[in-house]
Parts: sequence; structure tokens; C-alpha cells
Amino acid sequence: MKVAIVGAGLTGSLLACYLAKRGLTVTLYERRPDPRVATAERGRSINLAISERGLDALRRIGLDATVMADALPMKGRMIHPVAGALDFQQYSASGDRAINSISRGALNNALLTAATAAGGVTVEFEHRLCELDSAAGRMVFQTPSGKVSVAADVVLGADGAGSAVREQLLTEGIVAEDVDFLDYGYKELSIPAVDGEFALDPGALHIWPRGTSMMIALPNPDRSFTCTLFWPAGSFDALTTAEAIIGYFGEHYPDVLPLAPDLVDDYLHNPVGVLGTVHTLPWQAHGRTGLIGDAAHAIVPFYGQGANCAFEDVVELDRCLDDTGGSWARALPLFEARRRENTEAIADMALNNFIEMRDKVASPVFRLTKQVEHT
Ligand code: FAD
Repeated sequence: MKVAIVGAGLTGSLLACYLAKRGLTVTLYERRPDPRVATAERGRSINLAISERGLDALRRIGLDATVMADALPMKGRMIHPVAGALDFQQYSASGDRAINSISRGALNNALLTAATAAGGVTVEFEHRLCELDSAAGRMVFQTPSGKVSVAADVVLGADGAGSAVREQLLTEGIVAEDVDFLDYGYKELSIPAVDGEFALDPGALHIWPRGTSMMIALPNPDRSFTCTLFWPAGSFDALTTAEAIIGYFGEHYPDVLPLAPDLVDDYLHNPVGVLGTVHTLPWQAHGRTGLIGDAAHAIVPFYGQGANCAFEDVVELDRCLDDTGGSWARALPLFEARRRENTEAIADMALNNFIEMRDKVASPVFRLTKQVEHT
């Protein structure tokens, strides 16, 4: 039984680890070069909040300790008003629960290394899927030395929100998709360490709520912070000069300005990312081609649950294979039946949390309500 996974991101690499444990022969096809030797792309979500849902998936294959070794637990939100004192809002009443800031690159590398260390997994980098016959399991990849045709018994699309596998299934008329783009974009900025120390409290997820927009910051193991601006899509273009950028941040994010020496360079050169929710129906075809993770159900990042949710997918697909005696034809529809309701729920919650983070967290009424909930 040969399984092809398209995409060696977080979902594809974790899935390869799980399928290798089942004794399957797996080939991961990734359009990018090996991230363990290539340099990271500028401005692409450097860190992630991984919660218990994601950790559970890592724990089951013994990778939790490796990943957690460099994690920074964040026990609450730190609210930064334009003026006035910071406000720390603990995530749990007891204060012992946290979400963990983890490097996306380090996590992906750890998963890739674990996948290749498990027998039966091969990774083909610089292979971009460009054609798929979902009934026959035939694929064509664009590689640096031309096009390559391969076949597999099972093809799993773990190739992210803009999935080429999903695109091919759409072209074949097998799936329907609905992509709701948010009228907001995101841009990353950095706050470096000051004299080797964190410039902000590393035990919190920092939020600058500004009504219709916001900025957040998560700590990194090198004691820097990665900030992400979430602004209405067109508004990034309004600031085009160093003077305008510094003036704007001085007015709206005054405590950040002295901590971000590369602000102007980051702002002018880091890309603006798009945000959206992907709804796909169904997630599988012919019992041999399936979608998983963002390829099936990408969500907006405001609950910090996209990767966590994708990791839960992998655990559930593995469970479905257990429950069907390893029959992909039965496991793929079962996986969809069990996961769809959950992924739709988190998609809605993620959209709602944007309003909470950019606006409600700054309100005294919200703070009082949370205190009552905790008692
Ligand atoms: P991706 O990470 O997109 O990986 C897909 C892989 O497929 C990539 O390696 C890509 O190169 C490859 N690929 C694509 N097309 C092809 C092709 N044609 N052929 C071969 N390979 C291909 N989630 C959290 O849980 N916590 C967070 O805090 C969090 N923060 C986020 C912040 C931002 C700004 C954003 C945008 C997202 C955030 N997410 C977060 C969501 C998380 O990044 C995604 O849910 C997660 O990356 C999904 O993993 P994936 O492997 O399914 O897709």
C-alpha cells in the first residue's frame, strides 16, 4: 500500500509520522526546498500558539517533550491600551493553564525529522503538484528538472489553504468549495531582545486592541517577540514613508515604538498576508483521495487553533483507520463525518474571537464578566 501526502507542512509531516507507525509506505511531496537547509520566508507566521489539542497529537508519537523544550508558556493575555496601565487577563482561574508559543519552523523541522526517521517515509522536496487524477491516484509534479508522473494507492492533500489537491478535485467536479476572505490582512513586525532579555513579559500573549484593528505579539526562544498587525486590508497601503509609519505607531501603539528599531524596514518590506475561511464538501473522493488540515478547512487565526485543529484531524484519521481495519475507502468518509462538525465550530469561534480580541478585551465590562466566570 503506497500513500502519497501532498504538502510537508505541519499537517503532512505529522500525518507521515502517524502513517509510518501503521507500517505504511509514505511519500511526502513538498513544493519547497527542505526547510532544514533553506532559509525561512520573510514575514510568514514565525510562531504559533500550540494548546493541549495539538500537544495531545504530539504526545501520542512521543514528540511533545522535544517540541516543548523550546516552548514559551503564555498564561494569559496582556492588554496594551493606548494610554494607561497594562492589564493581565489570566486564561484560567487557577493560573496554571497556558498556551505555548512555539516556532513554526522548529516544529515543522522536528516533525519532518521524526517522519524521515520512521521507516517507510520518503520526502521529495521541490515537487509541486500540478495535475491529479483522483480516481486513478495519478499525480504530476513540477520539479527543477521537469515534470514527474507518479501513482499511489491513496493521495492525501495536506497542502494548505490554497490546496492544489482541492483545486484538482474542484476541476474534476467532485468537490464544492466556499472561500470566505476576511476584509483584513496581516503583517509581521519584530521586537528584538533588549540586552539579551525579553522587552515584554514572555509569559503572556500581548494584545493591542484598537477597535476595528489590533496587533498581537508572541515571544520567541531567542527572546525576541513577533508582532502581527491585523488591519483592514487596504489600510496598510496608507503608510508609505518612515515618517508616516513612525507617526502612526507613536499615536496608536506608543509603547511599541521604542521597542521596535526595525519597525520601518519590517513595515515596508514584510508582505501583507490574506486571511480567510475555507469550506469544502466533501473532503474525499473515490475512497482513495482525501483532504486534511487547512486544505480541507482553513480558518482565520484568531483562536490560534488552525494547526491544533489540523493535528486533531491526524489523530482522528488514524483512529478511523483503526476502526475500519485499515480500509481507506471506509476511513476517509468516516473521518469527514466525525470531524466536520468540529471544524465548522472552530471556524465560527475563530471569527468571533477576532471581535473579542480587537475590541471587547479592552472593555471594563468584559473584564468584570471574565472575573465572574472564573469565580
Ligand atoms: P500549511 O502550513 O499551509 O502547509 C502546507 C504545505 O503544503 C506547505 O509546506 C506548502 O509548501 C505545501 N504545498 C502547497 N501547495 C503544494 C503543492 N501544489 N505541491 C506540493 N506541496 C504544496 N494555528 C495555530 O494552531 N496556532 C496559532 O497560533 C496560529 N497562528 C497563525 C497565525 C497566522 C498569521 C496564520 C496565517 C495562521 C496561523 N495558524 C495558527 C494556522 C496554521 O498556520 C495552519 O492551520 C497550519 O499551518 C496548517 O497546516 P497545514 O500543513 O495544513 O498547511
